[in-house]
Amino acid sequence: MAARVLIVGDSAEPASWRSSLTRSFQVDTAADADALMHGTAHFDAALIDGSAVDPLLMAQRLHARDAALQLTVVAASGERPSLERAMILRRGVGELWIAEPSDLDAAFVERAAQVTRQRRGFQTMHRRIEHDLAAIEPHSIRRAFISDAYLATLLGLLPDPVMSFDHDMRVISWNDAATQFFGRNRGTALGRHILDVTTPVDRARLEKLLTGSASPSPARDEIAFLADGQLRVAEALTARVSAEGRTAHLLVLHDVTEQRRIQTELEANATELEAQSEELQHQSAMLEEAHADLATVNEELQQANAALTQRTADAEKAREEAERANRAKSEFLATMSHEIRTPINAIIGYNELLQMELAGPLTAQQRQHLERVHSSSQHLLALIQDVLDLARIEARRVDVETERALAVNAVAAAVEIVAATAHARDIALSSVALADGGETYYYGDERRVQQILVNLLSNAVKFTARGGRVEIAYGVASESPLDGADAAFIRVTDTGIGIEPADLARIFKPFEQVQQGRTRDHGGAGLGLAISRELAQLMGGDITVTSDVGRGSTFILWLPRTGTNVQPRLDIADPAVEQYPEGVAEVGRAIQHALDDIKLEFTRELRAAISVARQLPDAVLQDHVATYVADIGQTLIDLVARSGATPLVRDGSEIQHLIADLHGRQRALFGWTADSLRREIEILLDVIDRAVRRECRDCNAADIDAGMQIVQRMIATSEQVSLRHLAPADPTGDNS
Ligand code: ADP
Repeated sequence: MAARVLIVGDSAEPASWRSSLTRSFQVDTAADADALMHGTAHFDAALIDGSAVDPLLMAQRLHARDAALQLTVVAASGERPSLERAMILRRGVGELWIAEPSDLDAAFVERAAQVTRQRRGFQTMHRRIEHDLAAIEPHSIRRAFISDAYLATLLGLLPDPVMSFDHDMRVISWNDAATQFFGRNRGTALGRHILDVTTPVDRARLEKLLTGSASPSPARDEIAFLADGQLRVAEALTARVSAEGRTAHLLVLHDVTEQRRIQTELEANATELEAQSEELQHQSAMLEEAHADLATVNEELQQANAALTQRTADAEKAREEAERANRAKSEFLATMSHEIRTPINAIIGYNELLQMELAGPLTAQQRQHLERVHSSSQHLLALIQDVLDLARIEARRVDVETERALAVNAVAAAVEIVAATAHARDIALSSVALADGGETYYYGDERRVQQILVNLLSNAVKFTARGGRVEIAYGVASESPLDGADAAFIRVTDTGIGIEPADLARIFKPFEQVQQGRTRDHGGAGLGLAISRELAQLMGGDITVTSDVGRGSTFILWLPRTGTNVQPRLDIADPAVEQYPEGVAEVGRAIQHALDDIKLEFTRELRAAISVARQLPDAVLQDHVATYVADIGQTLIDLVARSGATPLVRDGSEIQHLIADLHGRQRALFGWTADSLRREIEILLDVIDRAVRRECRDCNAADIDAGMQIVQRMIATSEQVSLRHLAPADPTGDNS
């Protein structure tokens, strides 16, 4: 008949031993053990599931109810030692067998019963011997015997190594745990010196502890041992035991190797954590710093943005004003030409009719009067023409070509025009070519150059007495008032009345005349020089004058020899172009959009190309360049939107002029030379060109070229301005 087994404690795990039992035995399970207490008599054995209930408490209860019931606690193998230790101290648990799930095979009930039977047998025998001894031995011996037996069992059960030694430090006891701990059995330890068999790492330290144990109170220390070939750390406790005239010393070890290892690991982790925390704090500080920097940059950006918004608003306002002013000016010009020129033309026409005697014959005196009316009307018409001319120039409504031309052509044409007057006044008029070995070329508008020369020659003839000389000479000068660059010049010299030094500056102003009386004699409104100089400047040139009162004057017309040598105040806009295509504004927007890339590429290439740039920080290299490039972009946009409103564009070039000036000064300060600046400008232009072509993939190639041509003109102008601050050559000759 199968044994009947009661399983106490209902845990889901481990399910395996339960099911194997269920197959072998008649099994009842009980979630609530108390409910089954009454019926324990029906069972041969009870299995207490150690993972589900407090096994010792349950054993106490079941034992109290039925002492014959065979009790087994099923516990995981790791829990076995602690359960066994606890069992020794717990009363009323009966004969408890501790089994592991793997023990629970078909034969286990039988084995358990057998073990129980054996234990009971031993106990009975033990009790009988005790009883017999008690009868013959004194009480003290009996007690000593009992304590030896208990001590032996206890020492065998203790998981900690326990050793004792005598006053010569020879080992007298060595428990199982000591055998395990040191990998040395009792036989090889007994009688030997304790320090030899325990192999401490620090022998002196253990010796000190052991000799300290001479005092009855326990001493303790943490000692490292080379136990069984491994380093083990144990908490060592020693105490002196004296009984019946004999003294022994106890050494108890508690293995804390694992504990220390974990502790060290924890400490290491803590140190690492600390380091990580420090690193985190450091990073956080850096982040904070970066954040602060960002805030500053942001603020600067906001300021720049506000400035840009202001500029846009200003530009818009300027545009509106310019448009209004321009309309007014155009209306004024139209009125002038229509309202004044029409009646004058009418006067001239009717005068000619009268002179033709269609209205009847004229007397000699009438004819003379009509001739005076005719010459006065012609003079008035010329004067109006001058006023209109100046107004148009000031409104930038004059077409000025900049083409390469030979000076001799304009000179010859002008000389031809004034030759008759000079001859009539008996003035010797000559022209001289001064360019050594070559022809004099200039960049400008031949028609306008001729107009200027006629004006200068007429004045020279006008203000020179009969029999005097007027000479026109032309050539190339290596230095000129045009930013010091070489230039073409055409010089008109007379032997006339001259001009007072104080008047020299005045004569270029509109309506300024010095020799009132004489000018009256010869007509003129004081506009000729003003118009001439404006025209010269429009071409990138200028007019200068020197004079000696009573001996004569010299006027020089300077003209650039290269297409790009234009004055900064010259309009960037090409006066010949009325309206720029939208694509040019697109180029402007592309430049503004690629500003960051331009800035970075520019800095990088600058460092690669110019040695002085290498030591300078980004901030210095980029300083104001972004603003400058942004302004160039804006100017292109303005150009397209201007519809004739040139002041806007002029504003832009004014800003560029200022920046260029600042740039030149800053670069000079950092040791730049003219050569390095020229190289820098080349790089900037190149970088902008590349950025524009990258950004404007869908743009018309002709528009990009047109836009880039204007950019080139603006940058060339700025280059001239910047260059003024720089030494001409690199003293080290190092530009790479
Ligand atoms: P205008 O039509 O009166 O000649 P300009 O602007 O041509 O006007 O000249 C301004 C003034 O400069 C003249 O009125 C004259 O006083 C002075 N001026 C110009 N050229 C000469 C010259 N070659 N010699 C002396 N004075 C001159």
